[in-house]
Amino acid sequence: MATMDKLTLQQGDITALKVDVIVNAANNSLLGGGGVDGAIHRQAGPQLLEECRLLGGCPTGEAKLTQGYNLDADYVIHTVGPIWYGGDEGEAEALASCYKRCLQIANDHQIMSLAFPAISCGVYGYPLKEAAAIAVETVVSELMDKPEIKQVIFCAFNDEIRQVYETALLQMNQ
Ligand code: ADP
Repeated sequence: MATMDKLTLQQGDITALKVDVIVNAANNSLLGGGGVDGAIHRQAGPQLLEECRLLGGCPTGEAKLTQGYNLDADYVIHTVGPIWYGGDEGEAEALASCYKRCLQIANDHQIMSLAFPAISCGVYGYPLKEAAAIAVETVVSELMDKPEIKQVIFCAFNDEIRQVYETALLQMNQ
Protein backbone atom coordinates (compact mmCIF):
# COMPACT_ATOMS: atom_id res chain seq x y z
CA MET A 1 0.00 0.00 0.00
CA ALA A 2 1.46 3.35 -1.04
CA THR A 3 2.24 5.63 1.86
CA MET A 4 0.09 8.50 0.62
CA ASP A 5 -2.90 6.13 0.40
CA LYS A 6 -2.67 5.61 4.15
CA LEU A 7 -3.30 9.29 4.86
CA THR A 8 -6.81 10.66 5.11
CA LEU A 9 -8.26 13.97 6.13
CA GLN A 10 -11.49 14.16 8.10
CA GLN A 11 -13.28 17.13 9.53
CA GLY A 12 -14.93 16.97 12.94
CA ASP A 13 -14.48 15.93 16.53
CA ILE A 14 -11.57 13.53 17.09
CA THR A 15 -13.29 11.96 20.10
CA ALA A 16 -15.94 10.47 17.77
CA LEU A 17 -13.46 8.57 15.60
CA LYS A 18 -13.29 4.78 15.60
CA VAL A 19 -9.59 4.18 15.28
CA ASP A 20 -7.11 2.23 17.37
CA VAL A 21 -5.58 5.42 18.73
CA ILE A 22 -6.49 9.05 18.98
CA VAL A 23 -3.67 11.45 19.72
CA ASN A 24 -4.17 14.09 22.37
CA ALA A 25 -2.48 17.50 22.21
CA ALA A 26 -1.82 17.63 25.95
CA ASN A 27 0.23 19.89 28.21
CA ASN A 28 3.32 18.94 30.25
CA SER A 29 1.31 17.99 33.32
CA LEU A 30 -0.97 15.54 31.44
CA LEU A 31 -3.56 16.53 34.03
CA GLY A 32 -6.09 17.99 31.68
CA GLY A 33 -6.61 21.24 29.86
CA GLY A 34 -8.93 22.87 27.39
CA GLY A 35 -9.27 22.35 23.65
CA VAL A 36 -8.89 18.84 22.32
CA ASP A 37 -7.50 17.65 25.67
CA GLY A 38 -10.67 18.72 27.48
CA ALA A 39 -12.85 17.06 24.85
CA ILE A 40 -10.91 13.78 25.08
CA HIS A 41 -11.07 13.66 28.88
CA ARG A 42 -14.80 14.45 28.87
CA GLN A 43 -15.53 11.65 26.44
CA ALA A 44 -13.11 9.10 27.95
CA GLY A 45 -14.35 9.62 31.51
CA PRO A 46 -12.55 10.10 34.85
CA GLN A 47 -10.49 6.90 34.63
CA LEU A 48 -8.35 8.56 31.95
CA LEU A 49 -7.26 11.28 34.36
CA GLU A 50 -6.52 8.63 37.00
CA GLU A 51 -4.18 6.84 34.62
CA CYS A 52 -2.59 10.14 33.53
CA ARG A 53 -1.83 11.00 37.16
CA LEU A 54 0.42 7.93 37.31
CA LEU A 55 2.51 9.04 34.33
CA GLY A 56 4.39 11.90 35.98
CA GLY A 57 3.84 14.38 33.16
CA CYS A 58 5.42 14.43 29.72
CA PRO A 59 8.23 16.56 28.23
CA THR A 60 7.55 18.68 25.15
CA GLY A 61 8.06 16.65 21.98
CA GLU A 62 7.50 13.36 23.83
CA ALA A 63 4.45 11.09 24.00
CA LYS A 64 2.82 8.61 26.39
CA LEU A 65 0.18 5.93 25.85
CA THR A 66 -2.94 5.28 27.93
CA GLN A 67 -6.13 3.27 27.55
CA GLY A 68 -9.08 4.89 25.81
CA TYR A 69 -11.76 4.04 28.42
CA ASN A 70 -15.15 5.30 27.18
CA LEU A 71 -13.80 6.46 23.84
CA ASP A 72 -14.36 4.35 20.74
CA ALA A 73 -10.59 4.40 20.34
CA ASP A 74 -8.73 1.67 22.25
CA TYR A 75 -5.88 3.96 23.26
CA VAL A 76 -4.92 7.59 23.59
CA ILE A 77 -1.38 8.76 22.89
CA HIS A 78 -0.80 12.00 24.76
CA THR A 79 1.83 14.22 23.21
CA VAL A 80 2.96 17.69 24.19
CA GLY A 81 3.47 20.11 21.34
CA PRO A 82 5.65 23.20 21.55
CA ILE A 83 4.31 26.60 22.43
CA TRP A 84 4.97 28.95 19.49
CA TYR A 85 7.53 31.61 20.47
CA GLY A 86 8.22 32.89 16.95
CA GLY A 87 10.03 29.91 15.44
CA ASP A 88 13.58 30.30 16.79
CA GLU A 89 13.08 28.21 19.91
CA GLY A 90 13.19 24.75 18.31
CA GLU A 91 9.44 24.69 17.73
CA ALA A 92 9.65 22.88 14.37
CA GLU A 93 11.89 20.11 15.74
CA ALA A 94 9.67 19.68 18.79
CA LEU A 95 6.53 19.48 16.67
CA ALA A 96 8.08 16.92 14.30
CA SER A 97 9.20 14.95 17.35
CA CYS A 98 5.59 14.73 18.57
CA TYR A 99 4.49 13.05 15.33
CA LYS A 100 7.54 10.76 15.31
CA ARG A 101 7.16 9.64 18.90
CA CYS A 102 3.44 8.95 18.48
CA LEU A 103 4.09 6.78 15.44
CA GLN A 104 6.96 4.96 17.16
CA ILE A 105 4.76 4.16 20.14
CA ALA A 106 1.94 3.05 17.84
CA ASN A 107 4.34 0.81 15.93
CA ASP A 108 5.70 -0.70 19.17
CA HIS A 109 2.13 -1.66 20.17
CA GLN A 110 1.09 -3.10 16.80
CA ILE A 111 -1.41 -0.29 16.39
CA MET A 112 -2.78 -0.04 12.86
CA SER A 113 -4.76 3.20 12.79
CA LEU A 114 -4.30 6.60 14.40
CA ALA A 115 -5.93 10.01 14.26
CA PHE A 116 -4.03 13.24 14.94
CA PRO A 117 -5.46 16.64 15.78
CA ALA A 118 -3.54 19.75 14.66
CA ILE A 119 -1.03 19.60 17.52
CA SER A 120 0.00 23.04 18.87
CA CYS A 121 -2.41 24.88 16.55
CA GLY A 122 -4.86 25.93 19.25
CA VAL A 123 -3.83 27.82 22.38
CA TYR A 124 -0.16 26.99 21.72
CA GLY A 125 -0.34 29.29 18.69
CA TYR A 126 1.68 27.40 16.07
CA PRO A 127 1.00 28.86 12.59
CA LEU A 128 -1.34 26.41 10.91
CA LYS A 129 0.26 26.26 7.48
CA GLU A 130 3.73 25.53 8.86
CA ALA A 131 2.36 23.03 11.35
CA ALA A 132 0.36 21.16 8.68
CA ALA A 133 3.45 20.87 6.46
CA ILE A 134 5.44 19.42 9.36
CA ALA A 135 2.62 17.03 10.25
CA VAL A 136 2.25 15.67 6.73
CA GLU A 137 5.97 15.46 5.94
CA THR A 138 6.86 13.81 9.23
CA VAL A 139 4.06 11.25 9.03
CA VAL A 140 4.94 10.34 5.44
CA SER A 141 8.60 9.85 6.25
CA GLU A 142 7.91 7.86 9.44
CA LEU A 143 5.44 5.54 7.70
CA MET A 144 8.11 4.46 5.22
CA ASP A 145 9.66 2.10 7.77
CA LYS A 146 6.46 1.27 9.68
CA PRO A 147 4.48 -0.89 7.26
CA GLU A 148 2.23 -2.24 10.03
CA ILE A 149 0.56 1.17 10.38
CA LYS A 150 -2.21 1.18 7.80
CA GLN A 151 -4.12 4.39 8.38
CA VAL A 152 -3.36 7.88 9.66
CA ILE A 153 -6.22 10.36 9.85
CA PHE A 154 -5.61 14.08 10.16
CA CYS A 155 -8.62 15.32 12.07
CA ALA A 156 -9.44 18.93 11.20
CA PHE A 157 -11.70 20.61 13.71
CA ASN A 158 -12.96 23.31 11.35
CA ASP A 159 -13.02 24.42 7.68
CA GLU A 160 -9.86 26.48 7.91
CA ILE A 161 -7.81 23.59 9.27
CA ARG A 162 -9.25 21.21 6.68
CA GLN A 163 -8.35 23.55 3.83
CA VAL A 164 -4.79 24.03 5.05
CA TYR A 165 -4.28 20.26 5.37
CA GLU A 166 -5.79 19.70 1.92
CA THR A 167 -3.15 21.98 0.47
CA ALA A 168 -0.34 20.36 2.47
CA LEU A 169 -1.43 16.90 1.30
CA LEU A 170 -1.65 18.03 -2.32
CA GLN A 171 1.83 19.50 -2.14
CA MET A 172 3.14 16.25 -0.71
CA ASN A 173 1.61 14.36 -3.65
CA GLN A 174 3.43 16.44 -6.26
P1 ADP B 1 -2.53 23.01 21.71
O1 ADP B 1 -2.38 23.41 23.15
O2 ADP B 1 -1.58 21.90 21.32
O3 ADP B 1 -2.53 24.17 20.78
P2 ADP B 1 -5.46 22.80 21.49
O4 ADP B 1 -6.33 21.75 22.05
O5 ADP B 1 -5.65 24.19 21.98
O6 ADP B 1 -3.96 22.28 21.70
O7 ADP B 1 -5.61 22.82 19.92
C1 ADP B 1 -5.07 21.85 19.07
C2 ADP B 1 -5.97 21.68 17.86
O8 ADP B 1 -7.06 20.84 18.21
C3 ADP B 1 -6.58 22.98 17.35
O9 ADP B 1 -6.44 23.01 15.94
C4 ADP B 1 -8.06 22.84 17.70
O10 ADP B 1 -8.87 23.46 16.73
C5 ADP B 1 -8.24 21.35 17.66
N1 ADP B 1 -9.36 20.78 18.42
C6 ADP B 1 -9.99 21.26 19.52
N2 ADP B 1 -10.96 20.41 19.91
C7 ADP B 1 -10.93 19.37 19.05
C8 ADP B 1 -11.69 18.16 18.89
N3 ADP B 1 -12.67 17.83 19.74
N4 ADP B 1 -11.36 17.32 17.87
C9 ADP B 1 -10.35 17.61 17.01
N5 ADP B 1 -9.61 18.73 17.10
C10 ADP B 1 -9.90 19.59 18.09
